[in-house]
Amino acid sequence: MLFSELGLRASILDAVQELGYQEPTPIQSEAIPRILEGRDVIGSAQTGTGKTAAFALPILSKLGAHGPGPRCLVLEPTRELAVQTHENFVKYAKFTQLRTGLIYGGVGYGKQRDDLKAGMDVIIATPGRLLDHMGEGAIDLSGVKFLVLDEADRMLDMGFLPDVRRIILKCAKERQTSLFSATIPPAIETLITWAMKDPVTVEIGARRSVAETVKHVLYPVAELQKQPLLLALLDQVHWESAIVFCRTRRDADSVEALLCRNRHKAAVIHSDRSQKEREEALNGFKAGRYEVLVATDIAARGLDIADVSHVINYNVPEHPEDYVHRIGRTGRAQATGDALTLFAAGEAPQVAAIERFIGKKVERVKLPGFNYTYTALFDEAKLGPLSERKTKGVRIGKGYFFGPARRR
Ligand code: ADP
Ligand code: MG
Repeated sequence: MLFSELGLRASILDAVQELGYQEPTPIQSEAIPRILEGRDVIGSAQTGTGKTAAFALPILSKLGAHGPGPRCLVLEPTRELAVQTHENFVKYAKFTQLRTGLIYGGVGYGKQRDDLKAGMDVIIATPGRLLDHMGEGAIDLSGVKFLVLDEADRMLDMGFLPDVRRIILKCAKERQTSLFSATIPPAIETLITWAMKDPVTVEIGARRSVAETVKHVLYPVAELQKQPLLLALLDQVHWESAIVFCRTRRDADSVEALLCRNRHKAAVIHSDRSQKEREEALNGFKAGRYEVLVATDIAARGLDIADVSHVINYNVPEHPEDYVHRIGRTGRAQATGDALTLFAAGEAPQVAAIERFIGKKVERVKLPGFNYTYTALFDEAKLGPLSERKTKGVRIGKGYFFGPARRR
């Protein structure tokens, strides 16, 4: 299948060609014709499969010439996703007169107000800041004929559904709505019934599967040895760039501090960091200034970071969907990746949930030569209440430093 066979406008095809996309991905070849036809589309495919272009290309194609008010609205759950989607729209619209504006929190209102005044055809927004502008009367959505709810599952997890509903109510009733998500949990189905008209579902691959190019394993370890094991893994596994996911902002900060103390070039990204700091971390990681990006899941979900050789889960993800999402970051574009999850006994229920979700058992492995303290996980038959020996402040192997957590 070729892009030129999909029915897209020539100016859009030129941009696609300039970007060097050889052929549409499966979600693109399925969704683009449906959206061009005017259908409401529910698109579900794994992270990294090109969902952005699957809606951006046909919508830009249908928008045609520049007009007075916003006619397309794309809602994104996080600032980074909004920024990334905006970048994509700008590239895809390069040979058109269409303008794309970006509305998100954590930065000043001035430029966003000016953009809105100047007239944008497409608005990419996070819900909170968009509602602020709406409250000020700075934006009128009544001309929005194309609505996209991107990364809908994450929108739901972050509690944005009420905001999203309020926004949808202000869009044109006669509109085309698309919803894209890596997974479609039941609460999203309710939103679909409410917000969409006779939608077609385009589902690529099993929703629950982990990409076949990814090797993912569990490292059972005593909770108190997670930091030493992380350092030992980074020392012994051959990796080029890694994302380390942590459950809490506190863990993320302390892991980043640990890595920096041990001479890794690491940066952290989570919702307590300012927008500027987050951008610096993300851009620095993409540019190779940092080799490890430590992130909370909320801050990082769906971000398009190419060429991550390793994903390390410092905690077992609480939601099985997140496990699949995170692992989707490695092994992208067919490169073989690796995903490692540190697994303490207290996390056994989450591991069981993941294995039920993906329908198979994840291999348990031990790092050779690591000085493990006992954990009942080594003998899973005995899983249950544990007594873990304390290993605070130890030096292991090559003299890793586990001093008190300090900010850089
Ligand atoms: P998703 O939203 O499914 O996680 P993205 O839309 O962020 O994925 O796309 C992931 C990456 O793939 C982006 O860098 C994008 O530029 C690239 N990409 C998208 N479509 C194609 C294509 N047809 N050929 C090559 N690369 C593509
Ligand atoms: Mg996406």
